Amino acid sequence: MSPDAAPPLARRWLPARRLLQEIADFAFASVCTGCGATGVALCASCEAALAPCVVSLHHPATPMCAGLVFDGVAARVLRAVKEDGQTSLLGRLRPALHAAVAEARSSSAAGRRIDAVVPVPTSRAAFRRRGYRVPELLARDTVFPMLRALAPARHLQDQRGLSIDQRRRNLAGGFIATRAGEGTTVLIVDDVITTGATCAEAARALRAAGFEVAGAVAATATPRHRAGHSGSA
Ligand SMILES: [Zn+2]
Repeated sequence: MSPDAAPPLARRWLPARRLLQEIADFAFASVCTGCGATGVALCASCEAALAPCVVSLHHPATPMCAGLVFDGVAARVLRAVKEDGQTSLLGRLRPALHAAVAEARSSSAAGRRIDAVVPVPTSRAAFRRRGYRVPELLARDTVFPMLRALAPARHLQDQRGLSIDQRRRNLAGGFIATRAGEGTTVLIVDDVITTGATCAEAARALRAAGFEVAGAVAATATPRHRAGHSGSA
């Protein structure tokens, strides 16, 4: 009997069986993103490694802070989100992001009111590759309204592999505000702060459009911010 002539019951059963197989494959193939232990997407000890440990960056114009250092489990989880499409893991970085937001609020002038969070824009190429924008997903995960107020002003070179000076030059004038700020107080949100050049450029573009920028927060920051220039990212 050809597959086309299969009785209706068998035809209905085939997709269900395929689905069950996929669930089983997923359950057995599931490995911890942090350490490779099998059976879970993130094991308990790797989850514990994501407990917030706030890193503050001393930037002259824009206070910046992150909830975790970008290394070990935190770096592997964020890479899985960014490069492997595992957006469901982003929730594991939520406590870190919320700790950074709390720190930004407590360190800004008199617990300054925040009206909205503005995600750092990502390049069109990155959006085409991933189908989502990580800073935007993070910004949606705060208690503040998310405001898409920035866009790339021109084509930006991929920041990976650039030195601090090269990043600054690549980003100078790289963002443009897409709306007038009219005194709205915002907090900038990114996934990882490396040199601070991206958040500084975002703050410049927002201030130029009339926004008040209370600071910038990220889920993670590269280790150089914790111990001199030990970071390599
Ligand atoms: Zn693990």
